[in-house]
Amino acid sequence: MFERKHVDTVVIGGGIIGCATAWYLHKRGFSVTVIEKGRVAGEQSSRNWGFVRQQGRDLRELPLIMKSLENWRGIDEALGEPTGFVTCGNLAVAPNEKKLAAMRGWARDVADFGLESRVVTGAELEALSPAMARSYSAALYTPSDGRAEPSLATQGIATALKKVGQEVVEQCMVEDLLLESGKVAGVVTEMGEIRCSKVVMAGGAWSGQFLRKLGLSLPQSDLRVTVGRTEAFAHGIETPTWLPAVALRPRQDGGLSFASGSIMDHDLNIDSFRYLGRFLPNFLMNSSSLKLNLNNRFMEQRRHARIYRTAQRDSYQAIRTLDPTPNHSLIEQTRNAMVKAFDFPENLALEETWAGRIDVMPDAIPVIDQVPQAKGLILATGMSGHGFGIGLGVGDVVAELVDRGTTELDLRPFSLSRFSERYFVTPKNLL
Ligand SMILES: Cc1cc2nc3c(=O)[nH]c(=O)nc-3n(C[C@H](O)[C@H](O)[C@H](O)COP(=O)(O)OP(=O)(O)OC[C@H]3O[C@@H](n4cnc5c(N)ncnc54)[C@H](O)[C@@H]3O)c2cc1C
Repeated sequence: MFERKHVDTVVIGGGIIGCATAWYLHKRGFSVTVIEKGRVAGEQSSRNWGFVRQQGRDLRELPLIMKSLENWRGIDEALGEPTGFVTCGNLAVAPNEKKLAAMRGWARDVADFGLESRVVTGAELEALSPAMARSYSAALYTPSDGRAEPSLATQGIATALKKVGQEVVEQCMVEDLLLESGKVAGVVTEMGEIRCSKVVMAGGAWSGQFLRKLGLSLPQSDLRVTVGRTEAFAHGIETPTWLPAVALRPRQDGGLSFASGSIMDHDLNIDSFRYLGRFLPNFLMNSSSLKLNLNNRFMEQRRHARIYRTAQRDSYQAIRTLDPTPNHSLIEQTRNAMVKAFDFPENLALEETWAGRIDVMPDAIPVIDQVPQAKGLILATGMSGHGFGIGLGVGDVVAELVDRGTTELDLRPFSLSRFSERYFVTPKNLL
């Protein structure tokens, strides 16, 4: 049961986007309830690599991630909870001359935004990544980037929300919107109704299914990414580093989180075909990194979508938390590549492996917009693999949008209508 039957805003989804939005709404004096169908940060927000990076971003997304970095810098004090955030820079190795030229171009472009990013070589590169084998001679480095702990950050925001008297409800599915004369009047959940005049949909990989209930289309797809965690050891790495074979981040517990820097799984499902045309440019750009699989996900996703859309309460357990099977052979290959690429012990132990489904849009930038068909409904979804880093910035601007109906930061690149204005919208990120 809910403590409050009437609030200013309901946020659907207890990932970093939903929790951060609720936090900044609280700061603006709103009463807010976050409703999560499973557990807070059960899906992408606790499973990610923990990079908080501006580096390599699509220039359309740059102002948002720059703003987000400002928010991250003071977040532990603001929440009174640890998120593990530190400013430590981000390093991406150039695998060839073509990529190096693109990196130099990107670094020149972002200087116009006031962001310092540069190509490092020789002694500077060696000092930044002392354990890296010397087969790479240049990398892009952005000193103001950071990292945080996915296992702490979103949970920390949720705890802070509860401490200030806002409600975060877990194990509760939001099944529908209550609409009156085309305006949001509340939500229907498996625990009953809550009245409110604003709803923020921050449902990650499920947002497309939710919108389909309302007769709206969101061309959203997903990628399965497998991550490993090593034992604690003296690796000497401070800066998250991205090589073609492996991307790694130092963890607070002394180990490393790591994943393939270039291979991701896409498990074919109905949406793969529904949005095939939309994703074509993205697919062609990234075809060498995508591993397409025809496996049980096809039927699973169909079943999940049906339970979700038709509110089959007795089957909710199956969709409380997306927990995909890791690609064990890929993570073992990646561990071996990492041990070769860095001066690490041959027998470095892999302590844990997990996978997450990244929700992606065709142009690999989010949707942050008001939905004209349901006045008072705001979408904040499709973070396309960047949502942990941009999460606080997104939460802040969405709260502003809820409060004022407009934002200082230009949200036009993130409009929902871009998909109806142009069939092909293309990614423009460097990494
Ligand atoms: C393996 C991996 C590595 C990544 N690495 C990085 C990285 O290094 N840096 C970075 O910036 N980003 C990274 N990302 C991406 C980042 O984690 C996501 O973009 C971000 O967490 C998305 O947050 P979210 O709140 O939108 O979604 P989620 O964290 O997925 O949360 C959405 C929540 O909504 C809930 N929900 C959906 N529908 C309903 C409903 N009807 N009722 C109630 N609840 C509902 C779901 O249960 C879910 O918990 C990575 C992602 C993965 C999986």
